[in-house]
Amino acid sequence: SRLFKTNAALSTESPWEHVFEGRNTSVNALVSISNRPASERPESSRVGNLAIAVKDNICTASMPATCSSNMLRGFVPPFDATVVNLLRIAGADIVGKTNCDEFGMGSLNVNSIHDPVINPHQVASAAAVPWAERERRSAGGSSGGSAAAVAASMCDAALGTDTGGSIRLPASYCGVVGLKPSYGLISRWGVISYADSLDCVGILGKNVDTVKTVYDAVSIFDPKDPTSATTESRDKASTAARDRIQSFDFEEAEPNLSGLRIGIPQEYFPAELDSTILDSLRRVIKRLHSLGASVVPVSLPSTPYALSAYYVIASAEASSNLARYDGIQFGSRTSLPPGADKSRPGAVYARTRSTNFGSEVQKRVLLGTYALTADAFDNYFLQAQRVRKLIRSDFNAVFRAPHVLSSPPTATPRISGVDVLLHPSAIRTAPPLLRGGDLGRASHNDGLGESSPAAASGLDTYLQDILTVPASLAGLPALSVPAGYGADGWPVGVSVIGQWGCDDLVMRIGHVVE
Ligand code: GLN
Repeated sequence: SRLFKTNAALSTESPWEHVFEGRNTSVNALVSISNRPASERPESSRVGNLAIAVKDNICTASMPATCSSNMLRGFVPPFDATVVNLLRIAGADIVGKTNCDEFGMGSLNVNSIHDPVINPHQVASAAAVPWAERERRSAGGSSGGSAAAVAASMCDAALGTDTGGSIRLPASYCGVVGLKPSYGLISRWGVISYADSLDCVGILGKNVDTVKTVYDAVSIFDPKDPTSATTESRDKASTAARDRIQSFDFEEAEPNLSGLRIGIPQEYFPAELDSTILDSLRRVIKRLHSLGASVVPVSLPSTPYALSAYYVIASAEASSNLARYDGIQFGSRTSLPPGADKSRPGAVYARTRSTNFGSEVQKRVLLGTYALTADAFDNYFLQAQRVRKLIRSDFNAVFRAPHVLSSPPTATPRISGVDVLLHPSAIRTAPPLLRGGDLGRASHNDGLGESSPAAASGLDTYLQDILTVPASLAGLPALSVPAGYGADGWPVGVSVIGQWGCDDLVMRIGHVVE
């Protein structure tokens, strides 16, 4: 008997359905649901008592991992990813797999063979309006299904991946907490790669405590992941952060934060930022200030180049990673039509890739392949790597804590530096999705309700990442926490960024502002 139901077969017979109360049908967050019934779970925050959903680009032996792509439709991995294994050992219930943008490429969760995820947030005045008539907005992407599953109370927490903002953006749009940990702290073994030097597994939850509980269970050294941070470097970073944490009484409801320095990066307020988002940020700053923290402006001058550098690097790595899906060794093959010239070299390969990859993935593969050609390598790829280095040194220049992985190691903290940075998670609230039969699939449009020249070229979608990619390029921990609502009544998130390995400090501060 099958251990799971795929979204085509999700029905009211699912043992989880009494927990979901039909919500998945409207939200489209889960694409496979475990058949294991939800046990009577005591109210406690131990991982063993949590129901956790897992993004569909993370391998699970009991359910498919499709990456929302035709290329992997029906693929059931023969193993669990290390993260999933750790959760199972801790006793967590794996509820199901969550919808996402194809191979993690997108910001709106509209590039999916499973169709878009619908943001479950209900504007207060719409609470009485039936689901089908409510305003349809994006849940954000690419981990939109994970954020929506948490927001719609279909699970306690969800695993997502964040390459350039894919956890923080949907967390912000759906009004939940989302952590992208420091690069290398959570194992990527068994996670289907998009861009290895940026990919991080992270956690979404209703509150920081739940996220922290899951984080503690999964953030350990994994010898199977060559980029997993060693126990030694973890200890080094967390010892320094622990000393800092102990100097503030975070356990108190109203902690005394005097001495804590919070930086507001001046470059994180681009022209595209919706001004009503600022009210939420101001409220958070006011709260931290009232607890004694000093809030100071800082400058990260290379920020304007981050988005372009990110898209060159991520696409280049994606083109290399996705080369394995040739329909021969990996991926589902599309046979040649009758009468086709079978002797033409690469015919099956080309047909497989052009029919089974969606348009966004094909665009990235082409862009990435071009950036790696001899002609373009120096001007694009190397240039992007130089920008990445500048972004890293910008961060190191403002933080109090030294980067423990930098060489030569700088041992002493800079007293004038900041402990964390604070910025709006996104430039706007959740964008509207198109209505009607067309669910806003990216092959026709970019899913945005408005049609502007930028929207038509997909540029609007890329702009959504403008505030999240710098921390990704630098491998830093970043946490988006809900911080109220925009003028339209939809959730707004505020992000806290810390030095590498200071994830605990980031979560402590996130807890104060949530
Ligand atoms: N929107 C970004 C992209 O498409 C980020 C995606 C991600 O973090 N997985 O690359």
